[in-house]
Amino acid sequence: MNIIDLINKKRKKETFSDEEIKFIIDGYLDGSIKDYQMSSLLMAILINDMTNEEIFSLTKYMADSGNKLDLSSLGTNVVDKHSTGGVGDKTTLIIAPIVASCGVKVAKMSGRGLGHTGGTIDKLESIPSFNVNLTEEEFLKQINDINVAITSQTENIAIADKKIYALRDVTGTVESIPLIASSIMSKKIALGAKKLVLDVKVGNGALIKNIDDARRLSKLMIDIGKNAGIEVVCVLTNMNIPLGNNVGNSLEVKEAMDILKGKKGKLTDLCVELASYMVSLGVDTPYEEARRMVNDSIESGRAYSKFLELVKYQNGDIEKMKESKYQYDIKSMSCGYLTNIDSYKLGLLSMSLGAGRQSKEDKIDYGAGIVIKKEINDYINEGDVLMTLYTSKEINSVDNTIFTISSSRVRNSDLVYEIIK
Ligand code: URA
Repeated sequence: MNIIDLINKKRKKETFSDEEIKFIIDGYLDGSIKDYQMSSLLMAILINDMTNEEIFSLTKYMADSGNKLDLSSLGTNVVDKHSTGGVGDKTTLIIAPIVASCGVKVAKMSGRGLGHTGGTIDKLESIPSFNVNLTEEEFLKQINDINVAITSQTENIAIADKKIYALRDVTGTVESIPLIASSIMSKKIALGAKKLVLDVKVGNGALIKNIDDARRLSKLMIDIGKNAGIEVVCVLTNMNIPLGNNVGNSLEVKEAMDILKGKKGKLTDLCVELASYMVSLGVDTPYEEARRMVNDSIESGRAYSKFLELVKYQNGDIEKMKESKYQYDIKSMSCGYLTNIDSYKLGLLSMSLGAGRQSKEDKIDYGAGIVIKKEINDYINEGDVLMTLYTSKEINSVDNTIFTISSSRVRNSDLVYEIIK
């Protein structure tokens, strides 16, 4: 077997055997397959797709490429959650404490942001001294003690995914359904939870742009889960508009705290929905009962107390969170109804203010980001503040195509499109 023949095979739309996929993953890990060969193969996969059988094999060998976590000491009510990535996506910060306060164990390993999307670990690091590097023992002990821990994924989980994902990120091969499904599910298999809620984001701020692709991705991940003994629920959600009002690390932590304290709105509705599916899976109760438990946990203050307990357990100091040096109000130059907020452009702006990395080595300005001041369908007068920018940089100009202002309202779009189980 050799890699050039395999690249040509995929270029000709042929199907790999299980053995050929093992050869590719082993070869890439031991260095005999080079980055440039893997890039070419990834592009052939992106263009010519894979069969379900190929995707199952790919996921299996990626999951087997590193250590696997054993969560059996935590019992059976352990639930994991994963989002396919979006702008202003602080749902983990909100959902994990809600679900934990309902008696379900949340074992969450998260990633950092790269590109226009943010990562939960960067958000948590905006809380001074918050420890995102728990050892496996610390992680398990904390979940046993308080039902929830959020830590960054250790280096030795799904090593092949780490290497392939970094390459995809710089070769224009991120947006491939087989590659996304195998990347997410290989990590989830290695992380050990047997119940999983996936927030599949659809829209211009997401990796998946249309609902048909989101459905195919969801069904694939459910089938991969079935093969691995993981019960999966996919919630397809709208990523055409940003999630909530704040984008940027400490700003998102603050918004998450407001929601846990009872602030209402679309983001709250989405979090209640996702949390309810997690609780329903975790304690094996009907969705409606789980939803009642979730609402009660927020209204009673238990969810917010659990968040504070989580922060304290991981050494964080909320009181010391900082804002960036400058604040700039961006005002509207026209009047009419606000009909769109471009979440992709918003993500890029937030990154340029210092909230994200342009390359892996960049340092984050944790206080940097954006607070959106208006909602879709609000009437905007000329001179109204549309957003406030937080940054330590001096800003001279801002993309003025982020907000669309029109003469009539738009239909209010839903945040949750559909559920696939
Ligand atoms: N999240 C992942 O972990 N992998 C992908 O490929 C896309 C989103």
